[in-house]
Amino acid sequence: MRVSDLFKRIRLGPAGKPIGFTGDLLKVPEFLRGIHLNALEVQQVRRINITKDRAEALREEAEKNGVKLSLHAPYAINFSSENEAVIEASKERLLKALEVAHWMGAKVVVFHPGYYGKREPREALELIIESLKEIARLAKKKGFSPLIGPETMGKKSQVGSLDEIIEIVKEVPHSIPVLDFAHIHAREGGILNTRKDYENLFEKIESELGSKKLKELHSHFTKVEYTEKGERRHRVFGEGVGPKFIPLAEILLEWNDIKATIISESPVLEQDAIKMRDILIKLFRGVNKKELEKYE
Ligand SMILES: [Zn+2]
Repeated sequence: MRVSDLFKRIRLGPAGKPIGFTGDLLKVPEFLRGIHLNALEVQQVRRINITKDRAEALREEAEKNGVKLSLHAPYAINFSSENEAVIEASKERLLKALEVAHWMGAKVVVFHPGYYGKREPREALELIIESLKEIARLAKKKGFSPLIGPETMGKKSQVGSLDEIIEIVKEVPHSIPVLDFAHIHAREGGILNTRKDYENLFEKIESELGSKKLKELHSHFTKVEYTEKGERRHRVFGEGVGPKFIPLAEILLEWNDIKATIISESPVLEQDAIKMRDILIKLFRGVNKKELEKYE
């Protein structure tokens, strides 16, 4: 297998406009192609403001440049709010995000499910599932193709442990788990350090959800600082903080039935996506792992 084939199976790219790019969003796919990246998570995290024309133009640009798109929905989504109006507004926002993603040809809409607030965890989770089932029904009726992608969350105040995300995906049609490795690492007190750690995680998803949900893996990978409350802030590669990327890279190289998209949310966005790419290439070519540690 050649390196170019490898990166058809494992896709890398930034969350939003690259830091080394100034210009219109429509030109981002061309820029990414120039730096050998091939995924982009379009950020609509404050509000959804992409028109149908622009979404369709972006789809064309992405296809032309071999870039796979996903969309991050607004942060102002909370399906477990104590305020009914907030839940209703959240449904509208996620549906709108699915529509825009559909115009764009994006594979998945990533979103943060909600906060516990004063609710019991179980109650919060059930409310979220209830809303998402309704959204899945409406999205199907409207013919929207993107998957519903609840993300694993990094703060203990947020609904979104790995177990909770698995439970949501079990219940909600047309959904996949979005694995934010930084969030899993931070929330659980630094658990992603070795190959075994990642294998446990993947095996859990496979046994709970079936291998199909793992084969099209959509993920975020960023270095992270955390406290006992979970995620504190994103960091960059090369500073020696977790989670470790090398063991994940090894697994992805070996388990070649997994198609993975890895989005960098680091402060240096595409630069860390390029570092992940370099690590994958070097491992693929058989470079000694010890020599790669400096990247972490
Ligand atoms: Zn997110």
